[in-house]
Amino acid sequence: MKKTLYFLCLLLLAGHITVAQTKPDYSRITLVIHGGAGTITRDNMTPEKEKAYTAQLNEALKTGFAILEKGGSSLDAVEATVRVMEDSPLFNAGKGAVFTNEGKNELDAAIMDGKTLKAGAVASVTTIKNPVSAARAVMEQSEHVMLIGAGAEQFAKEKGLEIVNPSYFRTETRYRQLQEIRDREKTKLDHDGGSGSNEHIFTEGHKFGTVGAVALDAYGNVAAATSTGGMTNKRYGRVGDVPIIGAGTYADNNTCAVSATGHGEYFIRSVVAHDIASLMDYKGMSLQEAADEVVMKKLVKRGGEGGVIAVDRHGNIAMPFNSAGMYRGYIKKGKSEVAIYKD
Ligand code: ASP
Repeated sequence: MKKTLYFLCLLLLAGHITVAQTKPDYSRITLVIHGGAGTITRDNMTPEKEKAYTAQLNEALKTGFAILEKGGSSLDAVEATVRVMEDSPLFNAGKGAVFTNEGKNELDAAIMDGKTLKAGAVASVTTIKNPVSAARAVMEQSEHVMLIGAGAEQFAKEKGLEIVNPSYFRTETRYRQLQEIRDREKTKLDHDGGSGSNEHIFTEGHKFGTVGAVALDAYGNVAAATSTGGMTNKRYGRVGDVPIIGAGTYADNNTCAVSATGHGEYFIRSVVAHDIASLMDYKGMSLQEAADEVVMKKLVKRGGEGGVIAVDRHGNIAMPFNSAGMYRGYIKKGKSEVAIYKD
């Protein structure tokens, strides 16, 4: 009798836990996005450009939120949201990506599921129309986390993802940016007699148009996705922070989901996204405190320009950046906002 009662209690408890985990809570669903950080000021913006960016950011938010509202997963929401921005020539991801020194578009992307802690990434790909979906395929349909270059492209093709001619990614604006940076580089080399470091040329005037999304779904699961063309004039197969799990992209239901944008080398060395999650985990910081600590203090001290977007499992959000501006926005039930500048 005592035993039966014990098992009954256990069953009830198990039942209760399952109910608590599977009952959707639509009041907290949240989607946050970025379209890159950098030297984005009112002075170098036109009203037309501002309108175009705002419309595109709103479109991305609407697409992802519709999925969350229907009970879709945060993983589906971040992938769909990033695809919208990859398809837009305005952002440095997918179509409209920046050019390498050799005049190519080499793309990096990653995705992470906070529920399972599974992750997928691709780097230096030149023919996959939507790298974020290739990252998801790596996560779900391979035993690996990151695939690069020709191998990643072959994998994407085998999995039926859309393959395009590399010229699909080209836009004249981005090509001009490469020419400008090359001209400045040449001037500096002439001036220095060829001996100086070119790091400031690599970064100066950089617009950081990377895109990213983080979301919390009705089931309490968070996810993050990021996609980029990297940095203009990059060389030698350079890969940035975006596809490196823990640097530019990270998600864990216990803490938060983070997507970063900025000067990748600094974000890799500071393991930015994972550092934010760890501060919450080990130090008990709130999402905002942790994100500020890393972006506004640590990165600033180290000279790393950029920002992050983040969401925790309660639907709290943070969008700190230490650059002049960051294309960003969020949507929750009954609330939505898109912003570009600091103020
Ligand atoms: N983080 C990206 C990279 O370094 C660039 C960006 O955010 O625009 O590749």
